[in-house]
Amino acid sequence: MKIGELLKQINTSISFEFFPPKTPEGEELLFKTIKELEPLEPTFVSVTYGAGGSTRERTIRVVKKIHEETTLTVMAHLTCIGHSKKELIDILEGYRKIGIQNILALRGDIPQGQEESFIFPPDGCRYANELVSLIKENFNNQFSIGVAAYPEGHPESPNLEMDVYYLKKKIESGAEFAITQMFFDNSYFYRYLDLLERENINIPVIPGIMPITNFKQIKKFAVMCGATIPEDLVKKLEKFEDKPEEVAKIGIDYATKQCEDLLRNGIKGLHFYTLNKSKATIEIYNRIKKLIKK
Ligand code: FAD
Repeated sequence: MKIGELLKQINTSISFEFFPPKTPEGEELLFKTIKELEPLEPTFVSVTYGAGGSTRERTIRVVKKIHEETTLTVMAHLTCIGHSKKELIDILEGYRKIGIQNILALRGDIPQGQEESFIFPPDGCRYANELVSLIKENFNNQFSIGVAAYPEGHPESPNLEMDVYYLKKKIESGAEFAITQMFFDNSYFYRYLDLLERENINIPVIPGIMPITNFKQIKKFAVMCGATIPEDLVKKLEKFEDKPEEVAKIGIDYATKQCEDLLRNGIKGLHFYTLNKSKATIEIYNRIKKLIKK
């Protein structure tokens, strides 16, 4: 099913993000996680892509396996950095042939230490909006296309307004929905939605939720992507940095409250960054399920 259509029919969309593991053991664990999350009947799940094509074969394999061996609707992430248009079209054609209908069209983070000519080949796409256009031009309406959005602004953006301007470009090129970068303070998300409303942007924008279960790891991610972890949450987590169970408890409680607030404020979707684990997501889901309207 196409996610753009599903989002029109469903009251509250729940979705899960996975990454393609490096080893067969990791892949086995991922599919165990997927089996544990499947009964929650998510609207869709998605699989990330390594910028520069580093996970090309693994992403394709995991997407195909989810599509063929589970009941889930799957979306493949695709980044344009380091790829020629021909390579991108080949990957998309491969997905079309096996019946994948959903793509999250991204630029990708700029890999360190690579030549400019590798990162942005002259016959490639420089920004995500160009990838969205490429998909539309070559595949018409065969794919439902999602894009990334940044409630605290993308780290390379001079300001939030420019970021919103470029999100609009992605929508004008054919994106039907957006998923946000993780954020830990809902006020950024509400402020962002106000900005989008002022620009008459009215596609679904699904908040990305990252339950903190490993503080060191998430702190690193947050710095990289420009997400602010509120001071009082940092203080609480720092106190228990060496006690993983306490950290997970605090992180799950915090994400639960965040989700409850979003749902009570009429937000119609939650996208969980699962990091290929099911425990935190299932626990949060069970606590908020009374607020989820199918
Ligand atoms: P763009 O929309 O192209 O924006 C990149 C920057 O350029 C922004 O600062 C923007 O304001 C600016 N810009 C945009 N268009 C133009 C233009 N036409 N002219 C000038 N400036 C412009 N990364 C991965 O490598 N793999 C993944 O699977 C992945 N999944 C993600 C999923 C989600 C939900 C999110 C939020 C991010 C994901 N990322 C992933 C990270 C993403 O690739 C990075 O944030 C990347 O730096 C930007 O990608 P983008 O698609 O937002 O780029």
